[in-house]
Amino acid sequence: MVIASNLGFPVVGSQRELKKLVESFWSGKINEQSLRDGYSKIQQAHWVLQQEKGLQHIPSGEFTLYDRVLDTAQQFGAIPKRYQDIANPLDQFFAMGRGLQRAATESSAKVDVPSMEMKKWFDTNYHFIVPEFEQDQSFQLEQAPRVVEQFKAAKALNIHTRPVLVGPVSFLYLGKAAKGVEEFDTLSLLPKVLPLYVEVLKQLKEAGADWVQIDEPILILDLEASVKLALEKAYKTIQAQLAGALKVLVAAYFGRVESNIYAVKDFVDAIHLDLVRAPEELDTVLPLLNKDQVLSVGVVDGRNIWINNLQNSIALVQKAVAALGQDRVIVAPSCSLAHSPFSTSFEVKIKEKNPELYSWLSFSVEKCAEIVTIAKAINGQDVKAELESNAAAIETRRTSPQTVNPTVRDRVAKIPTEAWKRPSPFATRREAQVKKLKLPLFPTTTIGSFPQTKDIRVARQQYKKGTLSQADYDTFIKAQMKNMVEVQEKLDLDVLVHGEPERNDMVEHFGHLLHGYDFTENGWVVSYGSRCVKPPVIFGDVSRRGPMTIDETVYAQSLTKRPMKGMLTGPVTMMKWSFVRDDIPANDLCAQVGLALRDEVVDLESAGIPCIQVDEPAIREGLPIRRADWDAYLEWSVGCFRLSTSGVRDETQIHTHMCYSDFNEIFDAIAALDADVITIENSKSDEKLLKIFETKQYTNEIGPGLYDIHSPRVPSVEEMKQRFGDMLKYIPAHLLWANPDCGLKSRQWPETEAALVNMVEVAKYFRAQH
Ligand code: GLN
Ligand code: ZN
Repeated sequence: MVIASNLGFPVVGSQRELKKLVESFWSGKINEQSLRDGYSKIQQAHWVLQQEKGLQHIPSGEFTLYDRVLDTAQQFGAIPKRYQDIANPLDQFFAMGRGLQRAATESSAKVDVPSMEMKKWFDTNYHFIVPEFEQDQSFQLEQAPRVVEQFKAAKALNIHTRPVLVGPVSFLYLGKAAKGVEEFDTLSLLPKVLPLYVEVLKQLKEAGADWVQIDEPILILDLEASVKLALEKAYKTIQAQLAGALKVLVAAYFGRVESNIYAVKDFVDAIHLDLVRAPEELDTVLPLLNKDQVLSVGVVDGRNIWINNLQNSIALVQKAVAALGQDRVIVAPSCSLAHSPFSTSFEVKIKEKNPELYSWLSFSVEKCAEIVTIAKAINGQDVKAELESNAAAIETRRTSPQTVNPTVRDRVAKIPTEAWKRPSPFATRREAQVKKLKLPLFPTTTIGSFPQTKDIRVARQQYKKGTLSQADYDTFIKAQMKNMVEVQEKLDLDVLVHGEPERNDMVEHFGHLLHGYDFTENGWVVSYGSRCVKPPVIFGDVSRRGPMTIDETVYAQSLTKRPMKGMLTGPVTMMKWSFVRDDIPANDLCAQVGLALRDEVVDLESAGIPCIQVDEPAIREGLPIRRADWDAYLEWSVGCFRLSTSGVRDETQIHTHMCYSDFNEIFDAIAALDADVITIENSKSDEKLLKIFETKQYTNEIGPGLYDIHSPRVPSVEEMKQRFGDMLKYIPAHLLWANPDCGLKSRQWPETEAALVNMVEVAKYFRAQH
């Protein structure tokens, strides 16, 4: 019989219970015991739920109060020095995750430590805590290892689970040399940490486990030979030491394992593959398995929110069964379901207003049921009703006018070649723009948003609830914009913005103005720690409902003679920060969004707006995991940006903005965007970003950020002069702009004004010098 399994479950809870619990603990409202009790209760509920759904391999040990990589570090005693004095393990855990400031008491000294670094978990929106190691690092297994404790807790409920560990090689590889320590190869610590893994596995065996899941997601990266060697060594050792006492499943997910599989395949009892991302790997891996090995087939998408095509999945699993036999196949989600929202059962509004869309949605709980249905179908159990209703929903999704808009499809199919780029080269455009805009040397501008004050948030909430009328809300927003324009004039900025007071979020705001988008009530996915995001849903062909930003931009322009910059979110970011439909290719969807934005850009121009910024902060994070896939991605993503911005005349100045500093990696692609002006985060990377200009030519105008906007600190004139002077060493004066790193929405007004006063002074100082 094939087994129905899961790799991980959303720890945050059905309605973010864990978030509420943890945050109450942080604010001192509940004590540690209540936190632990509440935490156990949520865990229990999840195990029971998964069991009720019919899963046989239910995960344990992946449940965490903050981050499972951080749990791994603490479980194995990899505690950076600066946290070692914090006696209480839970305080220490949260201090590493989010920093800790505590005044001295009679019994304890003052504590003031920042958090450890956070990094994106592969290409998901989740961020993990980066473990820190020292060259002479010693590891120590905690008294009652949490993975063993979780296994026992489930067992006490009569639920037999499959414990999950972050694998030793991924753990070390994803970590880094501790702060203040010289760089070294963290994998050199493998011989030290491996015995502890073996020990924990033995304890799990003693506690009654039969299978264990060891996650090695790095298996899908482009790996150097030394890393593959480390993998080989790790699993050879584990195999030898366990001597068959416990079955080991090594899980790879988020992409293709390719030849990395050879590093582990001979030393494990089972391998998990992500067949959603890489269905083709079934064929390549099947012949490699020996006669006892088991394959876990990840056929249900753990990253998105759509129902599974059960027929297709069954066919894929059947293929595995034909080659291996029923007893050697496990049905699974593609990756941990922690990356999906909890359950569609909370989506009351969608269910009521758009039952068809509702029938296409599947969150974690529903995905568990899909996995079970697939397994039952293979095992010959009766799932006719489930298969029929699934097939019906798949069919309506394929044909519904909600997903297919022939006009949009036709337009995408017939995009003329010349629509993918500006008609004139930059030099010609620049001449027209210089003439029209009459900007001084080193023009000053901001990135778009001004402080989202309490007033603004309250007004928006009241408007949403219906207690503030449309007319009153509009008046309020206009007053805000008027104030923002006055402030900018007083500051003597050159290119102004309307300030974005009407936007809660740069993607959701536009989602409401486009066809093809909808919004969940409870579709939360953890982003880091207790923080969750609720991405909009793109379910249908995308087009504008009508003009999106014309009214506010034209109003803002009417208040000033200075050029006003229209402000839009680019096609790649609109997609990347949403749950996207998986029934059309990403590049086609991106082109649809690109065309909708193109219409808006043209309308802004027609309404007399001389500068238009199309933000694309997500282009870089959308980069595929494997280098080999970069070019194809960059081709369509850069293309769609250009599609959205190239409908205008030469004299209209197109800006873009990106908030990250690893500009260098994709320099050519950024240049290919061909924006007239790019503003980009820089202040934290010092001269690192600028160095690229020694070897590469960036021909268009550019504004590397002059100061960090993530902190309330006001940068001094001297400090920014220094930075600007550095920039001038690399960038020709006539191309250089003066601006902050990013939008100012999370700042307060006093520091915003103070910083901008200084910034304008710096620009004027250098103007006088030239
Ligand atoms: N225009 C946006 C703002 O200023 C840009 C935000 C971003 O880059 N993430 O808020
Ligand atoms: Zn930014």
